[in-house]
Amino acid sequence: MAKSYRHLVLILGDQLNLDASALTDFDPNQDVIWMAEVMEESTHVPSSKQRSTLFLSAMRHFAQLLEAKNWPVRYTRLEDADNSGTLAGELQKAIQDCKPQQLVMTAPGDWRVLQSLRAVAKHHELPLEIRDDTHFFSTVRDFAEHAKGRKQLRQEFFYRELRQKTGILMADKKPVGGQWNFDEENRGSFGKKGPGLLPAPLRFAPDAITQEVMGLVNTKLSKNPGALNSFGWPVTREQALQALDSFIQNRLPYFGLYQDAMWEGEVWLYHSHISSSLNLKLLNPREVTAAAEKAYQQGIVPLPAAEGFIRQVLGWREYVRGIYWTQMPEYLERNEMQSTAKLPAFYWTGQTDMACMRDAIHQTLEHGYAHHIQRLMVTGLYALLLGVAPKEVHEWYLSVYVDAVEWVELPNTLGMSQFADGGVMASKPYVASGKYIDRMSNHCKGCKFNPALATGDAACPFTTLYWDYLNRHVDTLAKNPRMLMQLKNLNRLSDDARAEIASQANLIKNAS
Ligand SMILES: Cc1cc2nc3c(=O)[nH]c(=O)nc-3n(C[C@H](O)[C@H](O)[C@H](O)COP(=O)(O)OP(=O)(O)OC[C@H]3O[C@@H](n4cnc5c(N)ncnc54)[C@H](O)[C@@H]3O)c2cc1C
Ligand code: SF4
Repeated sequence: MAKSYRHLVLILGDQLNLDASALTDFDPNQDVIWMAEVMEESTHVPSSKQRSTLFLSAMRHFAQLLEAKNWPVRYTRLEDADNSGTLAGELQKAIQDCKPQQLVMTAPGDWRVLQSLRAVAKHHELPLEIRDDTHFFSTVRDFAEHAKGRKQLRQEFFYRELRQKTGILMADKKPVGGQWNFDEENRGSFGKKGPGLLPAPLRFAPDAITQEVMGLVNTKLSKNPGALNSFGWPVTREQALQALDSFIQNRLPYFGLYQDAMWEGEVWLYHSHISSSLNLKLLNPREVTAAAEKAYQQGIVPLPAAEGFIRQVLGWREYVRGIYWTQMPEYLERNEMQSTAKLPAFYWTGQTDMACMRDAIHQTLEHGYAHHIQRLMVTGLYALLLGVAPKEVHEWYLSVYVDAVEWVELPNTLGMSQFADGGVMASKPYVASGKYIDRMSNHCKGCKFNPALATGDAACPFTTLYWDYLNRHVDTLAKNPRMLMQLKNLNRLSDDARAEIASQANLIKNAS
C-alpha cells in the first residue's frame, strides 16, 4: 500500500458489527480497516478449540461482509507466513504500510489489549481515538457516576436505574407488574420426573469458512482444550438473529422458572445461548431485550420469565462491565481469602468421580458452554471451597467458554464466584454444600458420593469442603450479616466433628 490514509480503523474479534461506533464515519476513499488473527489471543490463556473457532470464523465472515461493500480491509490470517503473532506486532506493520494520520477504534473489551494498542499508538506518535461501545445500554462513565459515593454496589440498583432510563418494562414510570424483580418465582427445579421433552436449540452446520477455520485450529492449536465435533455456534449476524428468535419462541416462556435447574446430560435446557453472539456484537442487547419485552406484551411469555431474562441482559451484563472497567487493573490481582491452591487437573479433562463436576466439565469441553448455575454453583463453587488461587480459576473460565471476554468473565469469576474482591461484586460468598446441587439437579442420584455426608468414604466433597470453608474463614465471614445463618449451623457442630471434617478436607486437597 503506497498511499497514506486518514484513519486506520481497528476492528477486534469481539467488535463484529457494521454499526460499530468506529465505523460511523468510515470513508472507503480515505480510510482502511485493520483486523488481525494472532496466536497471542489464542495462547495467552489456552483458548479452547470451540472459542478459537468461533472468534476466527466470525471474524472471517465479518471481513467478507466488509469486502462485499468494497471497503478496504487489511486482514492478517493466523496462517500467514509473516504473522508476528501479536496484535501489537501486526498493528505496527499496518501503521508502517498505511501511514494513517489517526487510529480509530471502539472501546475494547480487554484491559490488556487496550494497553498494548495504546503503547503502539504512542510509539508511533499517532492519535488513538477510542469511541464508546454503543452495544451497551450504559457507558462506563454512567456506571462510575452511579457508583460515586456508594459504600456498597448492588446490581439491583443499577438495573432499576437502567429500567427507568430506558423505559424497558416500565409503565407510567413504575415497573410493569408492580415489582422490579420476580426472582422468587424463578428458582424451580425439574423435580423427580425431569425436564421431559426439551425444545431443541438452533445450531448451525459449519460452512466452508468455518470448516477451514476448524482445520486450522485442529492443526495450529491442537493442544488447546476441548473438541470441535459439535461446533454449531452462530458465526454471522443472520444466524445470531435466528438463534435469538428461536429462543424467544421456544424457550423464553420457561426461562425464568428453570433458570437455576440442572439435569444430567442436558446441556441447553431453557437458556438462550446468545451470550457469545452478544459479546461478539453480532446481536445488539437492545434488540434482545426488545424481543423479550414484545413477547411478554403479546402474551407469549409470562412476566417473571421476561423480567428474569431482561435483568440478565440489562442488569447483570451492564453491571459487570462497569465493575471491570472501574476496578481494573488492580482487580485482576485481588485475592481476599488468600487462596493459593492449584486448579485440579480434572478441570481440563472432566475425569473425576463427582457426577456434577464431570457433567459440567464434559459439556464445557465439548460445546464451550455451561449455564450460569453450572458455572457458579458447580465448577466455581468447587474451586472456591477448595481454596484455588483466583487467577488460576479466572484463566480456566477465560479459556474454555465461547462467550469469554475478560470484561464479563473476570468480575463473574473473581468477584461473583470466588468472592476474591471481598464483596465488590456480590454481597456474600456463594457457598453451599452438595445438598444445593442435589436440590437443583439429578446429579447426586448417579454419583458415588452422598450429598448429606461430610465425612466417611461416601462423603460428598462439596459438603466436606463447605463446612471446612466456613470453619477456616469463620472470623472473616462473621463480619458479614448475610452469613449469620450459615455460621449458626456451623456452630452446631462439635469440635470433634469439625476436626474430622478438617482432616477429610485435607485428604481432598492433597489428592487434587
Ligand atoms: C464463573 C462465571 C464465569 C462467567 N463467565 C462469563 C463469560 O465469560 N461471558 C459471559 O458472557 N458470561 C459469563 N458468565 C455469566 C453467565 O453464566 C453467562 O452469560 C451465561 O451462562 C451464558 O449463557 P446464555 O447465553 O444461555 O445465558 P442466559 O442464561 O440465557 O442469560 C441471558 C443473557 O444474559 C447475560 N447474562 C446472564 N448472566 C450474566 C452475568 N452474570 N454477567 C453478564 N451477563 C450475564 C448473557 O449475555 C446471557 O446471554 C459467567 C458466570 C460465572 C458464574
Ligand atoms: S454427591 Fe456431591 S459430588 Fe456427587 S453429584 Fe452430588 S453434589 Fe456432586
